[in-house]
Amino acid sequence: MTTFFSGFLGKAARLAMAAATFGLIGLDMQVASASELAKDLFGAKKLPAAITARSYGFYSKGCFSGGVAIATDGPTWQAMRLSRNRRWGHPTMIALIEKLSRDATADGWPGLLLGDISQPRGGPMLTGHASHQIGLDADIWFTPMPDRRLSPTERENMSAVSMVNEKTHLVIEKRWTPAHARLLERAASYPEVERILVNPGIKKKLCETVTGDRSWLRKVRPFWGHDYHFHVRIGCQPGSKGCKEQDATPRGDGCDKSLAWWFTEEPWRPATGPAKPKARDIMTMASLPKECRAVLDAPSPVNEAAVTYHGPGGSDYAATPAPAAPAVAETPVITDPGVPATANAFVPRPSVDIPLPRPRPTNK
Ligand SMILES: [Zn+2]
Repeated sequence: MTTFFSGFLGKAARLAMAAATFGLIGLDMQVASASELAKDLFGAKKLPAAITARSYGFYSKGCFSGGVAIATDGPTWQAMRLSRNRRWGHPTMIALIEKLSRDATADGWPGLLLGDISQPRGGPMLTGHASHQIGLDADIWFTPMPDRRLSPTERENMSAVSMVNEKTHLVIEKRWTPAHARLLERAASYPEVERILVNPGIKKKLCETVTGDRSWLRKVRPFWGHDYHFHVRIGCQPGSKGCKEQDATPRGDGCDKSLAWWFTEEPWRPATGPAKPKARDIMTMASLPKECRAVLDAPSPVNEAAVTYHGPGGSDYAATPAPAAPAVAETPVITDPGVPATANAFVPRPSVDIPLPRPRPTNK
């Protein structure tokens, strides 16, 4: 376990233990048949499983226990789409996001807008992501944090800004800044981070502009979507024997034929044949690791506050105004007029203008 997390991890464990000792736990025994859809059962959970933090299964087929939430507000971040209740993750993931927010601010980024992490106990979601199921994935907006606290309504409705032209798949030059590249480099710099998913246009831009140490580019992987936000994935954490590692990223910086493929017609060709159902729409408890039943049935903590991480700076940040942050070069907080109002970092990509290809599972 990396040392900077250990203090918090110890605290989370003590909190869970205290809750158990003093009988503060609302037992939440869920009797559900194996045929029930896992997304319905996990999607209904409001609080995490107050037991040791462990991830079970794979990023796109699993669950996790011992989740903690990142606070809705911190000195260097604001969480978006609060109604989704997806601010939960493995304690290492949550501490890493907080650290990234601090480090990025020190680098000159005004602060992070946080997208979805996981549901309280992970598992498949009712809407959105195929992955994000084991508490080790997090989405971070390319839109820098504004220098004021956003209202809850703004956090629901504000659109993220696409960095990529949907037709050319190239970065929109007037929106892309060196600060965006620095943010990705910082995120890739942590040993816990195994992959960062970005739109192919963004990967191409990095390939063409990063000088000096390019080794971190290996972690930055091109993928469909990911033009409004990037996706940070950390590896299986110590103590999670049931967590399935993903394949290592290929050697090299990835600025090669595998990237050139994204700028051919093939990846953007409309899918043919009958549409297959999404995995989450057919995934039952029987499809998940058997431990996910125990995760579902485990007691909850006494409340959300008991398992919310604020970082070293303490709590109640929302009560104080955000510090004046240095502005990042002219990144306009506007919505691409070509993008429908419903498009944002979380909903499935809009079906206008661009055909929706079927993702190749081996890439994710
Ligand atoms: Zn994501």
